[in-house]
Order: sequence, then C-alpha cells, then structure tokens
Amino acid sequence: MPLPRAILFDLDDTLIRAYAQPEEAWRRLLGSFAEPLGAHDAPAIERVRAAVMDEARTLWTDQVAAAKWRLDIPGARRLSTRRALARLGYDDEALADSIADAFTEMRRQEYRLYPDAHATVDALRQAGVKLALLTNGASATQRAKIERFDLAHRFEHIQIEGEFGQGKPELAVYRHALERLGCEACDAWMVGDNYEWEVVAPQKLGMCGVWYDPFDAGVPVTATARPTRVIKRLGELVE
Ligand SMILES: [Mg+2]
Repeated sequence: MPLPRAILFDLDDTLIRAYAQPEEAWRRLLGSFAEPLGAHDAPAIERVRAAVMDEARTLWTDQVAAAKWRLDIPGARRLSTRRALARLGYDDEALADSIADAFTEMRRQEYRLYPDAHATVDALRQAGVKLALLTNGASATQRAKIERFDLAHRFEHIQIEGEFGQGKPELAVYRHALERLGCEACDAWMVGDNYEWEVVAPQKLGMCGVWYDPFDAGVPVTATARPTRVIKRLGELVE
C-alpha cells in the first residue's frame, strides 16, 4: 500500500503501551493490598478485581461522562474503585482511594514506548509524510508522556483533547488536524488502537482508518466499518 501524504497517530496504546491488558495489572496491584482488603486467596482478589473493572466499565460506557473523566483519569479511577468496594461491603473510601492511586502510579511507571515507534515515525517523516499526534486526555498527563518518550519534535502538529477542547471521535478533531497539516482527508491515514476513534470516525470523513491490533484481538464482531488496513506492529507501515 503506497504511503499517504499525511498520517495522524494516536498516542496511548499505539506509540506507547499505557493502559492495555488491565486484568493482569489489577490482579498484581490488588495482590499488594491483600492485607487491608482481607483478601487472602486468589478468588477473593478476583472478586475485587471483577467489581473494580465492572464499575470502571459502567463509568466509561456513558459517553458524556467519559468525555469529562478522560480529563481526570485518576479521579475516575477513585470513583469506580470506591463504588466497587462499597458494593462488596467495604466501608472505607480512604482504602479505595489509596488502591486507585496506587494503580495510577503503577501504570505510570510501566508506560513503555513500543520498540519500533521511534524508528517507524522517523522513517515516515524521512519519506516526506506529514505527521500529527492526536490524543485524548488532559494536557498535563499527555504532555508528560510526550516529553518522557521524546515525541514532540517528531510531529508537525500535536493535538491534545484537554488543550483543543474536543476529543476523538468528534469529527472536528480530525478536521482540525488535517487543516493544520494542509492535507485532504482522502490523502490521510489515522493509525491507532481504538476502533471507534481510529477507524469508524476517520472513515466517516473519507480518511483511511488503520487499526493497530498488537494483541491480535481481531476486528470486533459488532463492527460495522471495516478497517482500511490492520497492523500488528508499527513497523509494518514502512515495510
Ligand atoms: Mg489509544
């Protein structure tokens, strides 16, 4: 597939590994709270993990609430952990908050750049492709990741939900980035791991939606739109 004039990249769980595979992360974290939780075997930990993730899912399913909470992920995590613990009969919001905050910190420490991210982005730039970074979330949180992983100078345009005032999948978000790159939708790809944000919405504008599926999850069964292309490694973009 020939390269397009422009590519818009997602950040979280596309260029960097950030929030993927939460089950394993929660199990590990809750294991370190076994004592205060009084959860002394795997099924007890599993019960808490299931409740916490279930409450998080409920919170993130509400699109309006999600747009607000994306700008305060630690706050969202405290709320869903409080709800989960209350549901299980714990009357201890301070414990819920310290679990939520420990999870936030553990995730932050474990952010990793995908091994081929810099090389792929740099090769695309050298090939003359105009590049933008399009990320949802709060300015401070996302800027810290961009700084930590040396990404700022690699992109012609960086657009963060908390700074722009709107996030994916609002169509204005992609339109603005295309305008800044001076590129038509039909000459651009969006690359990322979120099916709705990086395949469905960009395709509505006539862009190509390239879905990044590093864990081989497969196209969601409920998907109505087909991705233009599926990649399992970023390096496939320049091969
Ligand atoms: Mg993502």
